Amino acid sequence: MDPIDRRCFATRRDFLAAAATTGACLATSPGIAAAEASGKAQICLTLDLEMSRHYPQRGMMEWDFQKGNLDDATKQYAVKAGQMVRERGGIIHYFCVGRVLEQASVAWLKQLAETGHPIGNHTYDHVNVKATTVPAVQFRFQRAPWLAGGRKPAQLIRDNIRLADTALSMRAGIKSRGFRTPGGFHSALDDRPDVQKMLQELGFTWVSSGYPRHQAVKPFEQPSTDVLDSIVASQAHGQPYIYPGGLVEIPMSPISDVNAFRNGRWKLDWFLEAIRRSVEWAIEHRAVYDFLAHPSCLGIEDPALETMQLICDLVKRNADRAEIVSLDAVAERVLTRK
Ligand SMILES: [Zn+2]
Repeated sequence: MDPIDRRCFATRRDFLAAAATTGACLATSPGIAAAEASGKAQICLTLDLEMSRHYPQRGMMEWDFQKGNLDDATKQYAVKAGQMVRERGGIIHYFCVGRVLEQASVAWLKQLAETGHPIGNHTYDHVNVKATTVPAVQFRFQRAPWLAGGRKPAQLIRDNIRLADTALSMRAGIKSRGFRTPGGFHSALDDRPDVQKMLQELGFTWVSSGYPRHQAVKPFEQPSTDVLDSIVASQAHGQPYIYPGGLVEIPMSPISDVNAFRNGRWKLDWFLEAIRRSVEWAIEHRAVYDFLAHPSCLGIEDPALETMQLICDLVKRNADRAEIVSLDAVAERVLTRK
């Protein structure tokens, strides 16, 4: 990265931070202004295809070791969501944990891809791409370290990502569309140019790794105006940008389902309110909103798909200034602006 790039990058982020804190008009920030100039708000619906700790019931921890071993309810919800969104003219960008491709049938996943939903790479075992020790890579390697086969963490992570691509292609004939890191990072990959470079070497042009900060949720407590405001304010920090090496970052947009329901023990109405306000902010500013959920969690908390219907309805009501797109389209627009 040259010094000028570094300065521009820092300035933009600093500006957004200042604007969010002071309530200054975000429409004047370079990122938001560019989005407005180039058209509509881009709203993404994403589902990470993995099992979630404490679902379908509290105390269920074994999924930590089998993130990709999806149960039937999770797969059915993923498919049902895809159908509903497709009927409304949208798409869902799914992220697949590769181990699910070891299951007896992968017809559901092939069907999703065939109906036009992009399927991205979420690693083979849901590994932590920033891990620096083998046990920290994933619980599976903590319990069964021999699976690492003596590889160093960086190599193990690289192989795990590649393995997911290979499994998708060999078993389902699917070419992965982009990469989402397991776990979201407040710092995205800003602090790890080596990981950015590895992803580019593996053929990815964009990554979804950031999860901007917002006020923490307290279990069983209805979110206060302050908490909701901080979630909306975090959207300004969750806008896509380009790393110095050229990889595009598309952060996830708070609040995630696991954060709200598993950590916050929220009621569905509270979640709907937070999502509605955040999507409205994105539409108002012609910005990007990257809804992040997990069918293993959302399927239990929102069985009737109310959240995704709400997002589809908001976009439909604002069709002149918002559209549902894939993360590929978001990355494309960021690169075009450049
Ligand atoms: Zn995940």
